[in-house]
Amino acid sequence: MADSYDEECDYLFKAVLIGDSAVGKSNLLSRFATDEFRLDSKPTIGVEFAYRNVKIGDKIIKAQIWDTAGQERFRAITSSYYRGALGALLVYDISRRTTFRNVKKWMHELREFGNLDMVVVLVGNKSDLGDQRREVSEEEGRNLAEMEGLFFMETSALENVNVEEAFLRMITKIHEITSQKCL
Ligand code: GDP
Repeated sequence: MADSYDEECDYLFKAVLIGDSAVGKSNLLSRFATDEFRLDSKPTIGVEFAYRNVKIGDKIIKAQIWDTAGQERFRAITSSYYRGALGALLVYDISRRTTFRNVKKWMHELREFGNLDMVVVLVGNKSDLGDQRREVSEEEGRNLAEMEGLFFMETSALENVNVEEAFLRMITKIHEITSQKCL
């Protein structure tokens, strides 16, 4: 199991958060990031990012996670947002079906701008609303993920359920792939 560490890192990599507005991306990120959470110095891109050091085996990995900071509303996300990213959390809101329908649109964008072998976790957020306001079943989420070759997880940023697990799944897989490439 990976823990959080403040020491110098062995690897640094970038990952991005994508998905419709108000699905919970910022809340997921601030739950996960115990380190810094700050505005990027490139206002033209207008993103925020946070760091988190994670220990896997004997290696310390510094994950730099980018958030759109509301820019998805204005369709201002460009290739610079995706450039160099090795992973993505593609988030929808289980209580709003439109956000699930738009997953295909986000996948399209990922394929256009992102790395071909990016590790993507499909995240159905707001699982705490599951009993009363669910519009997308867990099975639908899982099926879509399977079809698209993604990992899948339902989370609640509000109740801190599976948030750590979703990020760590992505980070662990990226580590697996990149350390193999180094052989
Ligand atoms: P973003 O636009 O995707 O970054 O979404 P935000 O993180 O700003 O969240 C949008 C709204 O959804 C806010 O009102 C949050 O409080 C709420 N929210 C985020 N995550 C959850 C969650 O897991 N459960 C519930 N019930 N509300 C959430």
